[in-house]
Amino acid sequence: MPTIPYYDWIAHHAGRRPARLAIHDLQTARKFTYADLHARTDRLAAALTARGIGKGDRVALLAPNCAEYFELQFACGRLGAIMLPLNWRLAVPELQYILSDSTPSLLIYDKSFADQAHQLSTRLLEIDHERPDSAYERALATAPPPSPAVALGHDDIAMVMYTSGTTGHPKGAIITHGMNFWNCVNLGIPAMITPETVQLVILPLFHTGGLNCYANPVLHAGGAILVMRTFDPGAALDCISDPALGITHFFGVPAPYQFMMQHPKFQGADLSRLRIAGVGGAPCALAILEGWSARGVPLVQGWGMTETSPAGTMLDAADAIRKVGSAGKALMHTAIRIVDDEGNDVPAGGIGELLIKGPNVTPGYWNKPEATAKAFTDGWLHTGDAARQDEEGFVYIVDRWKDMYISGGENVYPAEVENVLFQIPGVADAAIIGVPDERWGEVGLAIIVRKSGEMLEEGDVIRHCLGNLAKFKVPQSVVFVDVLPRNATGKVLKRELRVQFVGSDKPAIS
Ligand code: ATP
Ligand code: MG
Repeated sequence: MPTIPYYDWIAHHAGRRPARLAIHDLQTARKFTYADLHARTDRLAAALTARGIGKGDRVALLAPNCAEYFELQFACGRLGAIMLPLNWRLAVPELQYILSDSTPSLLIYDKSFADQAHQLSTRLLEIDHERPDSAYERALATAPPPSPAVALGHDDIAMVMYTSGTTGHPKGAIITHGMNFWNCVNLGIPAMITPETVQLVILPLFHTGGLNCYANPVLHAGGAILVMRTFDPGAALDCISDPALGITHFFGVPAPYQFMMQHPKFQGADLSRLRIAGVGGAPCALAILEGWSARGVPLVQGWGMTETSPAGTMLDAADAIRKVGSAGKALMHTAIRIVDDEGNDVPAGGIGELLIKGPNVTPGYWNKPEATAKAFTDGWLHTGDAARQDEEGFVYIVDRWKDMYISGGENVYPAEVENVLFQIPGVADAAIIGVPDERWGEVGLAIIVRKSGEMLEEGDVIRHCLGNLAKFKVPQSVVFVDVLPRNATGKVLKRELRVQFVGSDKPAIS
């Protein structure tokens, strides 16, 4: 039987359009065509084979955004090995916990993380972009001739990817080759990803938002990605405005859009070449959607999670204005339901838990059979997200169940209150958490970052809320801070705010 590497997109495009740009690594100014990427992937696969790595073995990567993420991902694919991208924000004991759990045969690390890497008990290989003779480059240069790629099926594991850790410890979601493929199909069609697509990648590549929205779908289609090492709002606006780069696609969680919108370059930026600007991963305040819409860019909202590789729902560009605030409808090869506590479908307008099923959904968590069993009912994944559907079937993500609080018997979803806070001109950033209250059980605390030079006071905030929200949703008090805690993806860490202002993170509502 000949082996057919169904999942080897790079080999395919290297045969079809070898000179097409695949990756432009902005930090190091390196450009890789599909032919280059194919050749380097082959050499890395052979170098890993020479180190005894084969099907099912894990290879970890600890690096800032760089082209090597893709070399390793596709090299692992050729061997059937499992890639383990690591969050560089984690402390050494947290990294060690992940490595003890997943026992990789090798850790490839960028020189900037040498200190951490040398404290971890595993075999090492160093990337150093300043040295052409780095250990990584030498391994590629001295690799033996490559062996034929291993044939892979839908269920073979491509990577173990850790969740954001927004609500607790990150969980290692198993991502199969099939899941990745269906994500490319599910996202590629509605996001209009073609061989001509050029995407600016700014989210961390160890996270599903960076790797799969839309970097992998773009490489699947034979388009080009521009990889930014760390997000900088001014630099991102410069890139998007640059006709020589020709960026057509951008994806972010709400924070980068918020920071670009507040940047002095925003009004003058040339956004005319952007065909799709996708947003997801956290509730997006209406003020952000409206600010971009006013500049002629309707942000395309979608909902997803690491466990669903990640895209689950998406709003078509044509509906972006009409259904502002919605995360759209289920993508083509996936199904969703919204259910109550007993598992019954909730009628239109009612709030329930979002469930999802399909070939893009994880088979479970790495080494966590109990967490896996708890996460599914009859093959439907419990997302932990509260959602509702309107009469036309459009999905609105209300918030996480864990972030909801109950004030005087009424459910309050912080995202709704935050939307109102973002309408206040002096507010640069805002979050709401529930805090204990003798009379009402819980009440809202607004945590606000003022725009520089603004004199905003507690009374102004409460007055604005009273004019725009039912009384039980109005925060009882306001604190002003310099910055909100966020994880590496840019999501606000409510559990840290609860620890800071309540003294502990409250147990999950389930
Ligand atoms: P952890 O599971 O470790 O607590 P996390 O849930 O933030 O972290 P991810 O997989 O990165 O990890 O994020 C998925 C979550 O992001 C979803 O379950 C949902 O709560 C939130 N999310 C995604 N898209 C949207 C959206 N469009 N609107 C609101 N929330 C969203
Ligand atoms: Mg999660």
